[in-house]
Amino acid sequence: MPTLIIAMDGPSGTGKSTVSKEVARRAGLPHLDTGAFYRVATLAALRAAVDLADGAAVAAAVDRSEIEYEDGRMILNGDDVTEEIRGEAVTSVVSKVAAHAEVRKQFVDEQRRWVETRGGRAVVEGRDIGSVVFPDADIKIYLDARAEVRARRRAAQTGEPAEDVLADIARRDHLDSTRETSPLQVPEGAVVIDTSDMRFEGVVERVLELIEANS
Ligand code: C5P
Repeated sequence: MPTLIIAMDGPSGTGKSTVSKEVARRAGLPHLDTGAFYRVATLAALRAAVDLADGAAVAAAVDRSEIEYEDGRMILNGDDVTEEIRGEAVTSVVSKVAAHAEVRKQFVDEQRRWVETRGGRAVVEGRDIGSVVFPDADIKIYLDARAEVRARRRAAQTGEPAEDVLADIARRDHLDSTRETSPLQVPEGAVVIDTSDMRFEGVVERVLELIEANS
């Protein structure tokens, strides 16, 4: 079977996770959530009580940890931390950890290997997939949405006040798009889909059409 890599990038609250999982399911492809790697690195660093501003120390804490990712579950030293890495303690600081070049280096090869061992066929979601991890991806999608729409969606998911979520989103967007290593950007050759006024199903259909047109 030919390789088929679908790179899906974009900021949080655009529906990236839900859309990429559904696209993977309908296209019969494995799904890789790369944000989960930066989240588990953050949890490993928090548990080891290292200074999150110190890239080398965070990378060393990650090195000492055993991290496994399978079927969308994240396992840290034998503990299933899939839910814990979505919590506030990790979410509020994950962008700090993800900004360290040492940490990104640890994961990029691992993500490439994960896809390679699955025959080079996968839907991969993140912030640097079409630009750095898989610059030659068959299809590159960049999902976007207005900040207030993204905040509203997140608030509906988590139950937090929309204005708190908006502030958190703005802070994370800023850190993710201004960092030196692999900043969040629209990758060259990506199809940009603004999901602000679209229904989930419409976005999924659009991506499936692009896959269909490519094959
Ligand atoms: O997608 P998710 O919200 O789980 O990502 C959490 C954080 O991980 C992002 O805010 C970003 O800082 C980082 N990330 C990244 N590169 C990726 C995926 C996520 O820097 N490919």
